[in-house]
Amino acid sequence: MADQAFVTLATNDNYAKGAMVLAQSLRNHNTSKKLVVLIGTHVADPVRQVLNRLYDEVLVVDVLDSGDTAHLSMMKRPELGVTFTKLHCWTLTQYSKCVFMDADTLVLANIDELFEREELSAAPDPGWPDCFNSGVFVFRPSKEVYGKLLTHCEEKGSFDGGDQGVLNSYFNTWATEDISKHLPFIYNLSSIAIYSYLPAFKQYGKEAKVVHFLGKIKPWNYTYDSKNKSVKGQSQDPSTLHPNYLLQWWELFSSSVVPMMKESYGNQPFLTGCESVEEVHEIASKVHSQAPLPPQISSKERQQQWEQGQADYMGMDSFDNIQRKLDSFLK
Ligand code: UDP
Ligand code: MN
Repeated sequence: MADQAFVTLATNDNYAKGAMVLAQSLRNHNTSKKLVVLIGTHVADPVRQVLNRLYDEVLVVDVLDSGDTAHLSMMKRPELGVTFTKLHCWTLTQYSKCVFMDADTLVLANIDELFEREELSAAPDPGWPDCFNSGVFVFRPSKEVYGKLLTHCEEKGSFDGGDQGVLNSYFNTWATEDISKHLPFIYNLSSIAIYSYLPAFKQYGKEAKVVHFLGKIKPWNYTYDSKNKSVKGQSQDPSTLHPNYLLQWWELFSSSVVPMMKESYGNQPFLTGCESVEEVHEIASKVHSQAPLPPQISSKERQQQWEQGQADYMGMDSFDNIQRKLDSFLK
């Protein structure tokens, strides 16, 4: 169906890695739907090139500069920046129905049957099951609904500071009105649920169709040992029955995405997270010899960038600098 699409969002290069793996996982399971990614203006050119290969449409969204109603709402609620950007998916009126998926989700089976559902269908949130989790949801693009969502956002804000709070208070009959809008949990399985109800996971986990790496630490925050096929720094699983979704993410990333990134970066040095320590050193020294000194930023700005996953791995936050800092603490 040409007028149905899976949609995701990546405002920066890190979330873009998630979007790449998500698209590859949808394609590996032979989806017949279009794939659309909304990206922020800061996403680097080589990253966009890879997204262009994996997605049917790569659309740049810049709420801050758009000068439309979203912009006005944004001025009043600047703290809801990424949330406003996610709501942008309702403007994709070239499609009659879509499924939004967070960039930190991984598809394990064909899920095209989700398009049989109506707006707003979603799975329960493991933390508060009367709320839906907004990492996977079925919706119908509509300029009217988009406008209403923005007004709602601006007037009422978000009770959790993010898109999930806004969407749950807007679609506030989800918990009670129509059970067909409750997606089975296997369409949005988060690891939190695995640990909090392990027997259920052992019983039903093999039916999982979408894994959601929800929470602060995302797959791309780890590093991967491609020789031994293991994720570095990951704590041991409490159960041998627990399939290693994180490893699956990295296998897909290193085997399908990294080769595309290498092509599009060409001679430009970049880090994927699959390098050995020696390789990181090599790349860092290459960057130092090529790049002019970056502009100095305040330590507050630097902290903010770090927290948004935009560490300056090649410069100030390089492995060498971190090691020097650690050494000085240890001394
Ligand atoms: N997102 C983004 N840039 C950000 C934060 C979030 O593009 O800096 C998008 C991305 O698609 C992400 C979604 O918004 O998957 C929701 O955020 P996240 O997955 O971090 O929230 P969680 O699922 O952990 O609550
Ligand atoms: Mn998420």
